[in-house]
Amino acid sequence: MPLFKSRIKDALVQRREQGLTRQLKVLENSNGPLLTCEGSRFINFSSNDYLGLANDPELVEAWQAGLSQYGAGSAASPLVTGFSSAHRNLEAQLCEWLGFERAILFSSGFSANQALLFSLLEKDDSLLQDKLNHASLMEAGMLCPATMKRFKHNDTQHLESLLSRSPQSLVVTEGVFSMDGDQAPLERISSLTNQYDSWLAVDDAHGIGVLGDKGAGSCSAAQISPDILVITFGKAFGLSGAAILCSSEVGDYLTQFARHHVYSTAMPPSQAVALSHACQMIQTQEWRREKLTELGALYAEQMSGLKGFVDTQTPIKPFVIGESQAALSIAEELKQNQVWVTAIRPPTVPAGTARLRITLTANHSQKQILQLTRSLHQAIERNIDLSNEPGIHPSFESNIEAQ
Ligand SMILES: *Cc1c(COP(=O)(O)O)cnc(C)c1O
Repeated sequence: MPLFKSRIKDALVQRREQGLTRQLKVLENSNGPLLTCEGSRFINFSSNDYLGLANDPELVEAWQAGLSQYGAGSAASPLVTGFSSAHRNLEAQLCEWLGFERAILFSSGFSANQALLFSLLEKDDSLLQDKLNHASLMEAGMLCPATMKRFKHNDTQHLESLLSRSPQSLVVTEGVFSMDGDQAPLERISSLTNQYDSWLAVDDAHGIGVLGDKGAGSCSAAQISPDILVITFGKAFGLSGAAILCSSEVGDYLTQFARHHVYSTAMPPSQAVALSHACQMIQTQEWRREKLTELGALYAEQMSGLKGFVDTQTPIKPFVIGESQAALSIAEELKQNQVWVTAIRPPTVPAGTARLRITLTANHSQKQILQLTRSLHQAIERNIDLSNEPGIHPSFESNIEAQ
């Protein structure tokens, strides 16, 4: 058998044997609170559309107006002829909102992160990343010529010990961590990077729009200004794409050297129009963040007695189960109650910390949250004995500590 063919076959068999095979599902209305799968309806607790913008008629209309004005595609990369006034306006709007001199647009957060690390880092540089950073950052870190070290999650003492040995590093953290919903200690990290003559880059994919004054994100909430801020448009913006915010000098540098910018087709101008509109909705529609806070409080009130509950200040509510199979069974059982949550298993999260990743959005109702929490209580009682003496489910116990 040819090399590649057997390699692919083996990898697929191994995945299956580990019970880790993932499947694409065709869903309808999955950008709203009620999704449809194979004719059945479910309350959707799996989307990253925290503010409920992805299917908002106002935003749909804005994109349509953009299409009428600018046509369909951008037809080229930005430096050729793909850059329009729609792109320029969006960049300017982001800069003013977030307090940076420059914004560079990308088609995805994945490419923005790769572009950033690949263009900035050279051989003998030091890159320090939080251990739980997104796959796009980890992969870029491993492939770039710099030496990457990972510090323990949110552990500023560990970070300081690494910085003291390699000052002039690039430190990269997320503002809000996607699988845990917790927040980085940005104020402390920022003072450490200043102290050790280093740069700080924050990927705020899950904080932008949700945290901070007018939704300006994790850095605004922590009152810091990192050297580089990455925001993505696939979560609270309800759309897709990303931007790197930075000084004008770094912006000039990225415009010249970031290959994902230079050699990739610009996002359609109509999308930039829609993003500008989303940006405005995020800043002015405070009720969406207030609603999230209310729903989060209700969720916490209903669930906080249970082991596996994790208190977060973000719409990401992990419920840690432990074993992959138990997480899958519970997610399946929830589906029988019309509740759709995703079981997140290794390798996305560390072994033994399989979890339900529950996300709240501004267009859920209180009633829907209660249906979630009631069903979750029932499913957990049936699948894991959490209410009994500690130690009865040892693997589960130790997994909670690992969090
Ligand atoms: C989702 C996400 C990305 C990737 O963004 P896309 O626009 O979906 O490619 C990058 N970083 C973090 C932290 C994310 O959560």
